Amino acid sequence: HQYFTDNQNQKDDFLALLKGPKNIVLTAHQNPDGDAFGSSLGLLAFLKQLNHNVTVISPTDHADYLAWMPGVNEVLDFQNNQHLPTAKKLIEEADIIFCLDFSSLGRLGAMEENFRASSALMVLIDHHQEPESFADYVFWNEKAAATCELIYLMIEELGLLDYVNEDVATCLYTGILTDTGSFKFDSTSITVHRIAGELIDKGINPNSINRKLFDQNSIDRLRFLGFALKEKLNYLEEFRVAYFYFSKEELEEYNSKKGDTEGLVNYGLSISGAVMSAIFIERDGIIKISFRSVDDFSVSEFSRNHFSGGGHRNAAGGKSDDNLESTVKKFLELLPTYKEKLTSQPE
Ligand code: 5GP
Ligand code: MN
Repeated sequence: HQYFTDNQNQKDDFLALLKGPKNIVLTAHQNPDGDAFGSSLGLLAFLKQLNHNVTVISPTDHADYLAWMPGVNEVLDFQNNQHLPTAKKLIEEADIIFCLDFSSLGRLGAMEENFRASSALMVLIDHHQEPESFADYVFWNEKAAATCELIYLMIEELGLLDYVNEDVATCLYTGILTDTGSFKFDSTSITVHRIAGELIDKGINPNSINRKLFDQNSIDRLRFLGFALKEKLNYLEEFRVAYFYFSKEELEEYNSKKGDTEGLVNYGLSISGAVMSAIFIERDGIIKISFRSVDDFSVSEFSRNHFSGGGHRNAAGGKSDDNLESTVKKFLELLPTYKEKLTSQPE
């Protein structure tokens, strides 16, 4: 890990920095998930109590399942023409920029150049592999289950846990819950459970958060899930690989919205014996890919090497500018090379 709080000088400097009111911009990766918004909105609620001028700027809009989160209505969407001028101005004038839940500036999409041009102090809080070095303060650990876990640990190290109010706690719990797959993934640690417990102690309602996140399906989404599982799920037993792919037309037919495909990839991995699952989605003119795996098969490496992506060992994403058919073909043609590794994982 790399924690700036391990260095007493850096920690003191940072605490001094947080003293006076500052112009602060918080941002996370495009197409934000529960951890990206949990860390942004949790830190928003935290920093506001320290009297800073804080704004969350998201590179893209967010899926509906995150729309209930505290502070979500204040988020500026860089793709929204009405928000754009303000967002640009805030980035230019920021004293401090927090980069949350991503560690290569390329994941900011259209916002990347504005961030690179900024003279603000950069703070990186993240758990993705292979971080790019651009930040002045780094709180990074690839073993952490969620960026929200790291934010809690950072606040704890700074001695500021009293400022973790119910809104902060709700947001941080959301990121931990979503990025651990509800305390299921390999990253689920003693620390994660300790933090979750301490967040409950701050007055949050885990059942309510769970229902807001996971029990808000539309009929369209459930019908789409039915279609996906019945018609679109492929399993290649010889490689222990499951995959789905969806064209723009198929998504339109089921009125599939942003976020509706979230979690679908996990169904592939739930097949007994499956080692890797992949989903290919044609959206916004590119093919967006999600990979999941178990045990030692690293999908972040796989995605980095072949699909311009990355992430974590067992959960990664990537993209392709080829069409859907060629992208899936490329994926299938790669499998023999990985057969040995895939099939040697424990049953
Ligand atoms: P998801 O499949 O849920 O979109 O992403 C799984 C994990 O991989 C998340 O931690 C996400 O941040 C990361 N990830 C998704 N897409 C990309 C990508 O294009 N590049 C990199 N480096 N990481 C990604
Ligand atoms: Mn995350």
